[in-house]
Parts: sequence; C-alpha cells; structure tokens
Amino acid sequence: MHYADIKYPDVANGLGVRVSLFVSGCRRNCPECFNKEAQDFKYGKPFTDKEIDFIESKLKLPQVRGLTLLGGEPMEKENAAELLPLCKYLKSIYTNKDIWCYTGYTYEELVNRNSSVVNELLHYIDVLVDGDYQKDKHDLSLKFRGSSNQRIIDVQKTLKTKNIGLVRELM
Ligand code: SF4
Repeated sequence: MHYADIKYPDVANGLGVRVSLFVSGCRRNCPECFNKEAQDFKYGKPFTDKEIDFIESKLKLPQVRGLTLLGGEPMEKENAAELLPLCKYLKSIYTNKDIWCYTGYTYEELVNRNSSVVNELLHYIDVLVDGDYQKDKHDLSLKFRGSSNQRIIDVQKTLKTKNIGLVRELM
C-alpha cells in the first residue's frame, strides 16, 4: 500500500485530535475528484513499519482520540487488505482509541460486496463517513462531511442491529 500523507494533529476529520492516514488508490473516478493524483495506487510513498511507528507514537498520547483513514479510497480491496491487519493490531493495543474511515462507497455497497476482508475491517471501525462528495449537496454547515448525502455511521451499532445507526449528534 502507498500513502499520500499522514496528518498530525488533525481536527477536521473526526472528533477530537487525531492522526490521519491518506492512502493512495481509488477507482471511483468521481467527476468532482479534488485529488486526481491520489487515484493512482502507487502515488506517494510506500506504507512501512516506519509509518506504523509514527501512528503509534501519536496514538499513545493521551490527548489523541484516534486514527482516521481517508484516501484515495481506503475501501478498495488492495487498501482494505492492508488496513485490516493494521486496524486489528492498533485496536488490540490502543483499546480506548477510535477509528474513523472516510469512503466514497455507501455502507450498503461495501456490505453487498460480500468481501470477507471488507466485512472484517468494518468490525474494527467505529465511525464510517460514507458516500461520495456531491457538489449540489454541498453544505458548509455540515460537520466532518462535505455534502448532505454523506452519512456519519456508528458502525458497531449498525453491525449489531443490522440497521444503519447514525451518529445523531453529528448529523
Ligand atoms: S473517491 Fe475521492 S479520490 Fe476517489 S475519485 Fe472520488 S474524490 Fe477522487
């Protein structure tokens, strides 16, 4: 997996102070893509143990609430396959930190893929901001999302109840 950037501190992509990983590679080809270069799976740098150490060094800090995954597209199969062991590992060590993930796919599209990797990855994600950015639904008053079609989903609640559970206080 390659990545375009790791941002710290990041307060724009999820609640609290976060460390954010922007992975490379995306096949969605949105007409309004604001980040064309990040569609290339080889864009940026290889994601290595050095980057994992950096993320861990930030997650250890008491003021850091969690990790956010963005792209590119974290839910493309190549990226999901590498993010799964990473999230599994981080969740086993940093049990009080949360993981947010931004994806252009909807939750339903992800689940309907019937991919064991994506399904397992969802078990380690606390909050999923889903759906593509739609210019005609752009709304500056929205928190942590660009357009009103995007949803801020409580993934664990959704998995448990099998109904989309929104993070109501943020919608
Ligand atoms: S999902 Fe993001 S990176 Fe992918 S094409 Fe759309 S805007 Fe670009």
